[in-house]
Amino acid sequence: MTDLPRLTVALTFDHDSISDGVRRGDSPVKMSHAEFGVRVGAPRILELLEARGIASSWFVPGHTLETFPESTAAILDGGHEIGCHGWFHEDAATLAVDEEREMVERCAAAVETAAGTRPRGWRAPYWSLGARSLEIVEAAGFVYDSSLMADDYRLYRVRHGDRHSVTEGSRFGREGALVEVPVAWPLDDWPHFEPSSDSGRDGLSAPSKVLEIWTEELLYAYTHAPGGLLTVTMHPECIGRGHRMAMLERFIDAAAALDGVVFGRLDAYVEAWSAGR
Ligand SMILES: [Zn+2]
Repeated sequence: MTDLPRLTVALTFDHDSISDGVRRGDSPVKMSHAEFGVRVGAPRILELLEARGIASSWFVPGHTLETFPESTAAILDGGHEIGCHGWFHEDAATLAVDEEREMVERCAAAVETAAGTRPRGWRAPYWSLGARSLEIVEAAGFVYDSSLMADDYRLYRVRHGDRHSVTEGSRFGREGALVEVPVAWPLDDWPHFEPSSDSGRDGLSAPSKVLEIWTEELLYAYTHAPGGLLTVTMHPECIGRGHRMAMLERFIDAAAALDGVVFGRLDAYVEAWSAGR
């Protein structure tokens, strides 16, 4: 093990905005809800991060990158990482392999144009993947993915070619070079706060409940996973509301109060983790 900090907290933001609404042909009200992320949420978040001296990771669909260049520039100017998150926030499980390859490359090229360097991180929209998605992401030169859930505070290498059959059982494929930064629904603002008519989830949670869940994760990781990483996923159109921003400030305060906790970008943590192996 290298000299990784006692615990690294990664604040990550999926800057979906209207990318999926454009693809779906959403109503003006849904589109305005998404626009809030660019108009209010992202500036508010960036101001808070700057005040606290925190560098973070943003996963931005190509459509958001190109449609809102001022938002893209503000993220980069703040010293934050931009990773890929589809073009129109596609569900990769519904794409043909050729379509997916083209979408991944198009997004990587847009980040490269905006940031001046190839993106290192990929996060699948909806955390939805096809059977070959991560082979495509690895082949496109990405260093890490952040869409899987097989661990919590530890990174791992993505396996390719797992085969599962009800007649022949499960055979696991080989580990590739792609590093996984695991995610989890409880550490995602969206299912807690955003009402969903089709999944039966209630949403509109009190921030006190979410703060309790996130803080317990923080304390558990701090105690039981030295050198680990706690990754929190947020969306500007969701966390950017006043009562939720107040919760995020409290969560940052709780983490900052622990000796040895640092906030960091995923690309930097992945690099440090890889160097130590
Ligand atoms: Zn998203």
